Amino acid sequence: MKQDSRAYAFETLAVHAGYEPDASHGAVMPPVVMASTFAQPEPGKPLRFDYGRSGNPTRAHLEAALAALEGGTRGFAFSSGCAAATTLLHTLEPGDHVVSGDDVYGGTFRLFEKVMKPFGIATSFVDLTDLSRLETAITPKTRFVWFETPTNPTLKLADIAAVSRICAKLGVRVVVDNTFASPALQRPLLHGATVVLHSTTKYINGHSDVVGGALVTSDTDLCERLSFLQNALGAVPSPMDCYLVMRGIKTLSVRMKAHVASASELAQRLAAHPRVARVHYPGLSSHPQHELALRQMSGPGGMISVELASDLEGSRRFLQALRVFALAESLGGVESLAEHPALMTHASIPAINRKALGISDALVRLSVGIEHVADLWQDLDSALQACSS
Ligand SMILES: *Cc1c(COP(=O)(O)O)cnc(C)c1O
Repeated sequence: MKQDSRAYAFETLAVHAGYEPDASHGAVMPPVVMASTFAQPEPGKPLRFDYGRSGNPTRAHLEAALAALEGGTRGFAFSSGCAAATTLLHTLEPGDHVVSGDDVYGGTFRLFEKVMKPFGIATSFVDLTDLSRLETAITPKTRFVWFETPTNPTLKLADIAAVSRICAKLGVRVVVDNTFASPALQRPLLHGATVVLHSTTKYINGHSDVVGGALVTSDTDLCERLSFLQNALGAVPSPMDCYLVMRGIKTLSVRMKAHVASASELAQRLAAHPRVARVHYPGLSSHPQHELALRQMSGPGGMISVELASDLEGSRRFLQALRVFALAESLGGVESLAEHPALMTHASIPAINRKALGISDALVRLSVGIEHVADLWQDLDSALQACSS
């Protein structure tokens, strides 16, 4: 596909953005350029690339694709989602302040509290389902309002456009971690956010075989700073990983459609099951922000959290009885995964905070894969039978 200014649909961009068949061979997939350094025709006058940390052709294709998918002017690829967050946080200075959603990813919480705080960057945590709390949390030193939507694991939503309107008025940048939705279902920049962050480890790569991260923005000053910091901090991905993520992106829209279709069906069936106390899924009309999900997302995603009508032991029996769902952390791959937030992904959060966030011992999180939905339901149904035996 010739890259031009015509607005292609997301499905078309996912297959083509960032690369067109190269002039010398016509290869329809980007070459994996493993070189760590690039010969210069004259001293100090390199061609487009000089050194592999500063830039790489395979990485440049991925970065262009990411920018196109999120509707931003520039993308930056990193060696992990945490590396993307770390680099973004290094645009701040001692004394600066961040307002964060109260249930951000554990690794992001750890960066705020254990890494940035000693450098003089304080973070306040706010429940962004109620925006009356946002304006009071913002101070003259606030530089970022940073959140995930949907959140992990209770799948709460925040209204990106409403947050962005408040922040624009106050001159604060809005950072949306779009890992759970992926750009196939939600494009925060189009709702007014300044920066989108991804753990490409999850849906964007989608095959559970790469750890990677990304930032996308159209903010010119921020682009300049991120470009400097990406090279200066050096948390860059390998060319091979860039290639794999780019290959994953080609099927992003079809994968997301499959994740959404199966998760929607499973969420409904789970909600009607006698051994389930409650289902958290933005696609259910019982979700407190279902209307916002319809407005802000083109599909409610592939993640479901389920409160079982049992205790910790019941959750253990449920998870161990699963045969198709693998018991594992992470999410967003083609294979279905199940995990227990209180014992696994959120174990480092003190029990009292977990309780306040609604992460009970009976809560299990499902990442619905692209297997046949009948096999997934049979697996869940039989594990639910095992749950209280
Ligand atoms: C996994 C994850 C991250 C961190 O990404 P890594 O690739 O594991 O470093 C950040 N945010 C969210 C929402 C995640 O799920």
